This record gives sequence, C-alpha cells and structure tokens, in this order.
Amino acid sequence: MTDLTNLGVKDIRDGVAGGEFTAREVAEAFNAAVAEAAALNAFIVTTPDHALAAADATDAKRAKGEDLGKMGGVPIGMKDLFATKGVQTTAASHILEGFKPEYESTVSQNLWDAGAGMLGKLNLDQFAMGSSNETSYFGNVTSPWRRSGGANTDMSPGGSSGGSSAAVAARIAPAATGTDTGGSIRQPAAFTGICGIKPTYGRCSRWGVVAFASSLDQAGPMARTVEDCAIMLEAMAGFDPKDATSLKMDVPAWEAGLSADLKGKKIGIPREYRMDGTDEEILKSWEQGKEWLRDAGAEIVDVSLPHTKYALPAYYIVAPAEASSNLARYDGVRYGLRDLPDGAGLQDMYAATRAAGFGDEVKRRILIGTYVLSAGFYDAYYTQAQKVRTLVSRDFAQAFGQCDAILAPTTPTASFPLGENQDDPLAMYLNDVFAVPASLAGLPAMSVPATVNSDGLPLGLQIVGKPFDEQGVLNAGLAIQSRANFTAKPEKWW
Ligand code: GLN
Repeated sequence: MTDLTNLGVKDIRDGVAGGEFTAREVAEAFNAAVAEAAALNAFIVTTPDHALAAADATDAKRAKGEDLGKMGGVPIGMKDLFATKGVQTTAASHILEGFKPEYESTVSQNLWDAGAGMLGKLNLDQFAMGSSNETSYFGNVTSPWRRSGGANTDMSPGGSSGGSSAAVAARIAPAATGTDTGGSIRQPAAFTGICGIKPTYGRCSRWGVVAFASSLDQAGPMARTVEDCAIMLEAMAGFDPKDATSLKMDVPAWEAGLSADLKGKKIGIPREYRMDGTDEEILKSWEQGKEWLRDAGAEIVDVSLPHTKYALPAYYIVAPAEASSNLARYDGVRYGLRDLPDGAGLQDMYAATRAAGFGDEVKRRILIGTYVLSAGFYDAYYTQAQKVRTLVSRDFAQAFGQCDAILAPTTPTASFPLGENQDDPLAMYLNDVFAVPASLAGLPAMSVPATVNSDGLPLGLQIVGKPFDEQGVLNAGLAIQSRANFTAKPEKWW
C-alpha cells in the first residue's frame, strides 16, 4: 500500500470511496505520524479517538452504500482557535487553559458533517496574534523545514496558523483549518510550501471561533494542493444565522469549477508592492509567476494600489482596537483561568487573572487597542485608520476595473530562524505587509508555493481576487501550481 500519510484530501477521499483503503487505515496512519512528530510541537492536544470514530462512521456508511460527504474519511488538524465540544480550546493562551466548550464552532461542525475527523487541536500564536508562532503559551511550533547546507537552525513555520502549516508540510495531517485576520493563513502557507486560502469576509462563519478582530477574522483551509483547498473550503463555508456577518450566499461548486485555463483573464501587478527590503529571490519568483500566468493565457497588466503603504499601520490600529474589546470577556469569571488572591475583591481577581493569563504580545495589543480607542485619541488614531481602510478598499475596487485578479508575493522574506525577530515587534509586523491590504478590504486571497530559495526554503505567491470570486483565485492558483511543479518537501528530522 502507498504511504497513506503522503496523500492529500482528494486522494484520501477518492481512495476511501473507491475502496482502495479504509478510512480507519488512514486515521491510524495519521495518528501514528502525529504521535511521532512531537518534536514539532504542532499540536496542543491530540484527539486520536475523534479521528478513529469519524473514520469508522465513514467506513460504516460505505458498507451501506451511503454518500460519504465532501471530506469523507479525511482526518484533519483543527487550529486551536475553533471551539470543539468537550475538547480543550485554548487559543494557545494560559487564560483559556482547561476550557472545554459546551458547543462546536460552525466551521468545525460543517467539516464533521462532511465526513472529516479530527487529529487534534493545532498550536498557534496566542489569540492568533503573531507571525512566527512564538507567542503561544504552549511553546513555539518548529517548522519541519530547515535550511539546506547543513545548518540545523530551527525555523519558524510562520504564524499565527503555524501548527497548521507545520503539520500539513510535515505530512502529519493532509489538511488543516487556519484563520486569517491579517495574513495568518497565507504567510504560514508561504513559509512551509503549502497552499492556503482566506475566502471573502463572511464566507465562513465566525461562530465559535475565538475572536481576535471581528471585522477581519476569516477561517480558511490549508492543504498541499489547490484542489484540496477547494474541496475543504466548500465543506467549511456557508451561511450561518448565528453569525451576523455571515454571507447569505450559496456555496459555489469550487472543486467542479477548477480550471487552469486563464484565457481572457487579466492579472494585475500592483506597482506599490515593489517595496524596499523585499528579498531579491522573492522578486524573481514574482516575475516567474507573471510568466506562468501569461503561459496559462492571461494578460498581465500594471495596476496601482496607491494606499498600500498605509495599510499595515492602519491594520495595527484596527486589529488591536477590536482585540481589546473582544478580549475584555476573559475576566476569570466565565472561562479557563481564575487567579483569586487571598482576600481579593472582584477587581483584583480581574487584574490578577489577566496579568497571569495573557502573554506579552496579547497585553501589548490590548494596551494599543485601549489607547487608540480612548476618548482623547479616538479620532487621531481609530477614525483615521478606518478612513485608511476605506481608501485601501477603494484602491482594490478601482484596480479590479482593469483586472480580474492580482498577483503579488505573499511575504517579503522566506521563513526566518526562531528567535530572530522576537525582540522587535515592528520587524515581526512587517511580515504581513503584502497580506494585510486584502484583509482590510475583505477580499479572497490565496498563497500557492512557487519555488524554493537558495537556502532550500519555500517561497509563496499570492493571488487576490474580487469579492466572492474564490473561483478566480483558485483557478489562477491552479495555473501557478501546474507550472511551478513544487515537489520539494522537508527532510524528516523529527
Ligand atoms: N501576524 C498578524 C498579527 O499578528 C496577523 C495575524 C492573523 O492573521 N491572525 O496580527
């Protein structure tokens, strides 16, 4: 039998449906791979029994000739930002340690309904705040990738969905959920040589997803191929009356609509994305990306997104502002940790719980957020940032008058060693400079692996689409995938 852990979503689903192997065999193979990979620290908790139970249900359905579902027999990793009933859900924070929700998030429920099973809850940056996975209370995730040339330096898998990216790249999960507030699906996907798509804001329900910045948060799939992302996104998405910002739209048949033929399509190249400090090899892969899309039949056109340079500063006002409000609920009363010093009153309990429960990056964001929302500074910072957000959205709307999708790098650099940017929050924030504009505008955006750099580390290309045009994004991604022939994979050291 082929090594089942090398298979992706489509191959597993079709193999189980076709009787090549059972869902139980698949779940057992991945459970074993997960258990062997503890050195990556990709999972906060593992749930082998959940994966087995879902697999057995799929096998039983097959025996009865029933429909196995979009994800039938596929075990996946679940970012530990999604509430999972009866299974610890922490957002990688001490403040939620031990919290076992009484409910299931809509997205995870959709995946179980589609026949998927859960291998475990994946590590992430604390409350999804970070770009390297180093802000997790449960220790950083280590990327399965290492630089070629003998250096065994531990590298970052990106963040905040770093457990997801590491697990999928290491082949200990065929796919995983991610969330993207300002790049957290795309940047880790780029760092680890996998695909990840953030759909249009509102496609995936936020109900039961631990909130970071509610006007930006979107869930999406991370997998090794564009096809696998299309399949999984179809299973995750859909209108949810429990989320007031959920899109009341049918989920298109993205998998069936896949086509790498881009004839008649125009792809825009935003001139403002040629930024100082962008790695030469990344600029080269961007050029290569244009050639690939031209080869697929697209016309390449120059476009302008003039407010690009204000997007990142605006994001780092809007996101912390919303976070400071969302995180007010962690007070020692309702969830997880409670620190109640002897003889303390209610205020003391709040303060002690939050002081002990939140990590430094989370505290930094809460401080920034409360500052920019305070009476004296609201107009100077928050209102200004909201205006910039409108201008960034308008830039995209104008550019989409001239093109169908935009091609850009996903990140300004390849993955970096763990520890490298830890003392410099601004350098860390720069990682998301190419990702954040699409988040502010709520647009679908995907990262697809393009090549490896001279250190043997993956580089990703990003496609940003019009609102609701996930299909256009996936198709451009497919055109890149079929030309990039990205077959590099990390050498096993764990
Ligand atoms: N890295 C960005 C941040 O720290 C984005 C995080 C995310 O998308 N969740 O805010």
